[in-house]
Amino acid sequence: MENRRKFIKKAGIISGILALNPLKAIEILANKSSKIRKPVVLSTWNFGLQSNEIAWKILSKNGKSLDAVEAGVQLCEGDPNERSVGLGGRPDRDGHVTLDACIMDEMGNIGSVACLEHIVHPISVARAVMEKTPHVMLVGEGALEFALSQGFKKENLLTEDSRKEWQEWLKTSEYKPIVNVENHDTIGMIALDEFGNLSGACTTSGMAFKMHGRVGDSPIIGAELYVDNEIGAATATGQGEEVIRTCGTHLVVELMRQGKTPQEACEEAVKRIYKLIILRKKNPKDLQIGFIALNKNGETGAFCLQKGFNYAIHDAKENKLIDSPYLI
Ligand code: ASP
Repeated sequence: MENRRKFIKKAGIISGILALNPLKAIEILANKSSKIRKPVVLSTWNFGLQSNEIAWKILSKNGKSLDAVEAGVQLCEGDPNERSVGLGGRPDRDGHVTLDACIMDEMGNIGSVACLEHIVHPISVARAVMEKTPHVMLVGEGALEFALSQGFKKENLLTEDSRKEWQEWLKTSEYKPIVNVENHDTIGMIALDEFGNLSGACTTSGMAFKMHGRVGDSPIIGAELYVDNEIGAATATGQGEEVIRTCGTHLVVELMRQGKTPQEACEEAVKRIYKLIILRKKNPKDLQIGFIALNKNGETGAFCLQKGFNYAIHDAKENKLIDSPYLI
C-alpha cells in the first residue's frame, strides 16, 4: 500500500514536470531513478589516469561515451613519451612505426585501422572508417590513403628516442616481448555515460620490433575491445596473439551475459588463456595479459596473468590507479 502511494506520488510529480519541461522529465526517468554508477570510465595502465581526466571532462558534462573514449585515448597517442602508443611508439624491426586501433559504440557501430603509418591519431581514423565508409576495417596503405583523404596530416612518428632504441636493438635483433615494462602496451578505454550508453576505444603501436606487417589484437573487434550495450564492455592489453586466440573481450562480455560479474568474467577469460598457453607448452611467465570490464550497472572488474598490470577508474568520486589481481 505504502509503495503504491509512493508510486502514485512520484508519477504525479513526473507528469507535472513532463507538462512543464518534457526534456527534464525524460532525463529524470532515464537517469535519476536507478542506482547505476554512471558516468564511469576505466582504462589500462598508468597512462590511463591522465586519459581518464580527458574522458571525464566530456562524461561529466553529459557528453557521449563515444566522444569521451576517443578524446581520452587521443591524449596518449599524441604524447611522444608514451612509447607504446601513437607518436613516439616503438617501430617494427624495419624501423616503421605501424599503428593499430579500433572503436565501438553502443549501437554496435565499429571502425578499425591496422598497420597504419604516419598518422598521430589512428583512433580518429578508426572512427572515420566507422562513420564515413561502408566498411569496418582498413589496413596499411589503404588506411593511410583514406586518412589523408579525410584531412589527417602525414607525419613522422619515429622520434629520436625510439629511433635510437631501435638501432640499439638491431645489434642483436632478438625479438622478445618484455612484460610490464612498456616494450608493448595498449591504451584501452571503456566508458558508461550519463545516458547509460557504453563505448570503447583502444590504440597501440603493438609489440616493439615486431615483423613488418604484424597486426595484433588491438584493431580486432572481439579481441582487444568489445561492447554490447545490453550487457557491458571489455578491453584487453598484453600479448595480442593470445587474446586473438580466445576472442578475449568478446568472451568477457559473453561471460557477463551468462551472469558473471565483470570481475569473475575477467578471471575466467585469463584462465582460458592460461590453459592454452600451458597446452602449447609455452612459459606463461614470458607473457602478460590483462582484461578490464564494465557492466551496465557501472560495476567494474580486472584480472591479469601475472603481477604488474594496473588500470585507472574515474567515477564521480575520484580518479584512481588500481593494481590488478593476477593468476600466477
Ligand atoms: N595487445 C597489444 C598487441 O599485441 C600490445 C599490448 O597491449 O601490450 O599489439
